[in-house]
Amino acid sequence: LVNSILDMARIEAGRYELQFGDVDFAKLANTCLAMVKPAAANKGVRLENLISKPLVAPHVDESAAKQILLNLLSNAVKFTTPDGVVSIRGSNGEGGVDIAISDTGIGIRPEDLPRIGQPFQQIDASFTRQHGGAGLGLSISRKLVELHGGTLTIESELGVGTTVTVRFPSPQ
Ligand code: ADP
Repeated sequence: LVNSILDMARIEAGRYELQFGDVDFAKLANTCLAMVKPAAANKGVRLENLISKPLVAPHVDESAAKQILLNLLSNAVKFTTPDGVVSIRGSNGEGGVDIAISDTGIGIRPEDLPRIGQPFQQIDASFTRQHGGAGLGLSISRKLVELHGGTLTIESELGVGTTVTVRFPSPQ
């Protein structure tokens, strides 16, 4: 929690220094999937890396990209029930590299979507709620991708699942 708040403060103060370089999202996806594997295995959630060949984006900060993927993958595992699937896809188009993390989890109601991704917003913020976290993961991820000039979009259907897509735009 403290680290999340510090990250947020550093980003807001313009003091989050990015080091841009080539990042292979196929490799990074494998690294991040390996990190959430124990949590997924504990719950019986299957993980799929659908990025089958190297997918290199120029001008990306690798540690920021790793933090984004880890946040999104952890959420996907956290909000998916046993026998569900969490997958990661990537594509390289004219606008840049898109990475999408999909789950077959609980989903988000349309009326809740606008506030999700704002700092400290959670659907169930009650003291008794089942899932840990402070409600900062999505907003930090959004700000980190925005520091790359990119976007974070959430599509979700209640009871069906959620897809969060981050776009790292091609440098001009
Ligand atoms: P945290 O996970 O710490 O609560 P986040 O900012 O990462 O904080 O997410 C905020 C809220 O958005 C979560 O509490 C949850 O209600 C909702 N959410 C995020 N990701 C998903 C997902 N993949 N499926 C369903 N709900 C999600």
